[in-house]
Amino acid sequence: MQPYVADTTLAQGSGEEHDPTGAVVPPIHLATTFLRPPEGYAATGWSYSRYGYPGLEKPEATLKVLEGAADCRLFSSGMSAMTAVVMALQPGDHCVFPVDMYHGLKTWLKGYSAHWGMRIDHVDMTDLDKVRAAVIPNVTRLVWVETPSNPHWHIYDIAALAEIAHEAGAKLVVDSTVATPILTQPIKFGADIVVHSATKYLNGHSDVLAGVALTAVTDSFWERVVFNRDYHGGILGQFQCSLLMRGMRTLHLRVARSCESAMALAEALGRHPKVTAVFYPGLKTHPGHELAMRQMTGGFGGMLSIIVAGGAREAERVMTRTHIWKPATSLGGVESLIERREAIEGPNSHVDPGLLRLSVGIEATADLIDDLFAALETNNAG
Ligand SMILES: *Cc1c(COP(=O)(O)O)cnc(C)c1O
Repeated sequence: MQPYVADTTLAQGSGEEHDPTGAVVPPIHLATTFLRPPEGYAATGWSYSRYGYPGLEKPEATLKVLEGAADCRLFSSGMSAMTAVVMALQPGDHCVFPVDMYHGLKTWLKGYSAHWGMRIDHVDMTDLDKVRAAVIPNVTRLVWVETPSNPHWHIYDIAALAEIAHEAGAKLVVDSTVATPILTQPIKFGADIVVHSATKYLNGHSDVLAGVALTAVTDSFWERVVFNRDYHGGILGQFQCSLLMRGMRTLHLRVARSCESAMALAEALGRHPKVTAVFYPGLKTHPGHELAMRQMTGGFGGMLSIIVAGGAREAERVMTRTHIWKPATSLGGVESLIERREAIEGPNSHVDPGLLRLSVGIEATADLIDDLFAALETNNAG
């Protein structure tokens, strides 16, 4: 695929070469098996759809170009991609993960690492000395980071973490779900593996579960990741793949709009008397702002969190009074979502009970601000 700028690569997602019918979007091939000559594999390379199928390669090639990666694989969910990466490790390997990270993966790690004989430490990665102290040369195989991180939107220094990981002989994996390749290309900063929940911004319409893993180099570690997709059966299905490709064609527009509105919301909410804290890397007061200026291009993301005065009860009241903001988990869709994070994460959550996580969609910025402010005012009166 040609190295167009991201916008063109995405908008032209259906590719340069067209279907023999002349259709400008690729067809969906539902076949699970493909004709073979008696001596083995067909010239097309497709044999059985658990290993790949026509239609999968376009979105994989597009993402490869956007991230500057050597190879890409699509999975049936973000978790499927991420667990395929962790399961490429060996028993006894040591990994360093952040404290603030995707809750589902944290839960899986807890259940999996113990009986797999993997050793895992969670450290505050805004403090690089803590990461330096946690890595064990030639025993630590993986340093994992998610930036901006959920739900406080900390910004972690990918280049510095890559250096620390590489000195110890470990790989740096970046969960770039929230940044998307529009705002950050982790491989450019030294990351070895990039993962996404494509369920979020990449698809962008809250109707597909999908995941991505990309690599800077095709080495034996990556071969094990690919092996895991092939033999665990975590490949993305054909329908979902087609929907994902359609969603990705407007990624650049959706991300730009969400970033713009999120910035305006963060500034407006910062002035609201009922809001005691705003977490958004675009704000000069955010501790990761300087770093975000260096590491992110074109915006600071569509995710922000606020703490509402009065704790869980008041935060819940705000949630029930919005009309445009829908009370639901997940993020990165065209519709704006609001959730009280502690209630989603459960009793082990380290999140403030009054924290509301906002996923900013593509509705009119003024409507999003008005709706939330009205809910906060009602809250004030009641
Ligand atoms: C949603 C999410 C995941 C998990 O992805 P699924 O597609 O739900 O399996 C991982 N990391 C982050 C940052 C996410 O937001």
